[in-house]
Amino acid sequence: MLATHNPHKVEEFQKIVAGARPGLQVVSYDGFAPVEDGVTFAANALIKARAAAARTGLAALADDSGICVDVLGGAPGVFSAYWAGHHKDPRANLELLLDQISDIADPHRAAQFVSTIALVRADGSESVVSGVWPGRIATAPSGTGGFGYDPIFIADGQTGTPRTVGEWTAAEKNASSHRARAFHALLPLLHGL
Ligand code: IMP
Repeated sequence: MLATHNPHKVEEFQKIVAGARPGLQVVSYDGFAPVEDGVTFAANALIKARAAAARTGLAALADDSGICVDVLGGAPGVFSAYWAGHHKDPRANLELLLDQISDIADPHRAAQFVSTIALVRADGSESVVSGVWPGRIATAPSGTGGFGYDPIFIADGQTGTPRTVGEWTAAEKNASSHRARAFHALLPLLHGL
């Protein structure tokens, strides 16, 4: 069971899981939403997974994720979802980020998407894994795919003219993303559940 209120994450996890472990189903739990007052991705992922496991008695997975920009010292980081305010407006978030680094030249616009997944088992034992997706911040948004900061994130390692993740297909993103990387790190821990 995946504890999240974010439909984009559910969809991405369903596709990632279907590719890696056909037959394994992701059932989302969007009941009680605990206050995410951790200061690390791991702390917040554990808060969400513990709350879901405690309320359902089932093993629970939760992802906490965000974008970390080098020149901002790793921010927005755990504040990614509400960088421009608690109304959680994804467009305002990415526009604020672009404005903050508008004078910064390309070689210094490095950033990473990070996804940390916490697994809390029914017996109370816990595991935490992370996936990091390196890239850089574009100077303007482009593309309508994905969600959040995808239109301003240019992943490393592209051949040809680099595109933002907003211009990628869902399949391309799910093959490389931070969430896919974290999930692959988690796979060996799912045996025996
Ligand atoms: P969370 O739901 O508290 O983990 O917040 C995650 C936030 O990080 C999202 O609201 C987005 O702003 C950002 N984020 C995380 N993963 C992605 C992604 O795959 N693409 C774009 N933005 C993301």
